[in-house]
Amino acid sequence: MILRQVELLPYALPFRRPVRGETTRQGWLVALHDHQGRRGLGDAACWPGFGAGHAATAARLATLLPELSHASFADLAAVEAWAQLEAATTPEVACAVEVALLDLFAQRQGRSLAQLLAAHVDPALTPRDSVRLQVLVHDADQAAAACEAGVTCFKLKVSAADLDLPRARAIRAAIGPEATLRLDANGAWSTPAEALAELERFAELAPEWVEQPIPAGDLVAFAELRRQSPLPLALDEGLRASADLERALELAAADALVLKPTYLGGPLVALRLARRAHAAGVRVIATHALDSVVGRAAALALSACLPADEACGLAPALAADLGQLPAPLGGRQPLPTSPGQELGEPSLLVPAACGKKESP
Ligand SMILES: [Mg+2]
Repeated sequence: MILRQVELLPYALPFRRPVRGETTRQGWLVALHDHQGRRGLGDAACWPGFGAGHAATAARLATLLPELSHASFADLAAVEAWAQLEAATTPEVACAVEVALLDLFAQRQGRSLAQLLAAHVDPALTPRDSVRLQVLVHDADQAAAACEAGVTCFKLKVSAADLDLPRARAIRAAIGPEATLRLDANGAWSTPAEALAELERFAELAPEWVEQPIPAGDLVAFAELRRQSPLPLALDEGLRASADLERALELAAADALVLKPTYLGGPLVALRLARRAHAAGVRVIATHALDSVVGRAAALALSACLPADEACGLAPALAADLGQLPAPLGGRQPLPTSPGQELGEPSLLVPAACGKKESP
């Protein structure tokens, strides 16, 4: 496939509720046009603490796009090799370009993104046609409403039990004992000793696991904490590159891994890592990175190809978006069935709020 034109489309979209003080999600869509008039889209969505970050991503996009404007990719192996190299420095860019190229290949082959991913990684793999949703809730009313809509897996952000245990108890009461509850500390407990004390206090809620109890950066300490923890532990921020995942498996550091294709360098490498983790007996889920519908569609395709039917973090975090996925049904997110990403009306893909198209 030969690329004919490359565009960078900056976007700024409102969050449903502020995330760590931010009210707007900013990122870039990378739009790649092939010589037959198709357009593939990928999302480069940066977030502090993950990946290469905003400044490095912006700088890399500016130098990269002219290079790509007449590039050719013979097949998916070439796409994967390119993304793997790029992921070593700017995983957000690797992911955006890989997803845009996969979108183009999927359209050419008349397959969905998930079908294309599956066929490339393992010809015997068939993607699921829907993925169980994990939904972030903040209070009991929200949890009860989600329950009513058929959601069966809930995630709650926690910091200290003093503050959050009453709220968490109310949520557990609203969703009932059978529903899955996951807690996410986002590294809030600064030492393993503090984490252990908090984990013991939250144990009464019977969470399926607790995500990132201690800050990222010390997998040995994480592994030690896991050995002492009364609850299963999941790594999220601690997986900043594929090498972290290899090390986590080596150390038996976690019961579960949260994979964000945006920060690992794309859905292809994320799927390979997920399969390796599953073979080692570690549970794996995928989530988007609070990115636009383009990033969510890629995370959804990855989720549908994961080795086990786990609840994944695919519910939207944005109040307005650039397009839409099929509506959730009974706590599951259906996959698009048409070729490529199928993101709704193309006119919605570049809202006026995103500003002018920029030439790199
Ligand atoms: Mg998390």
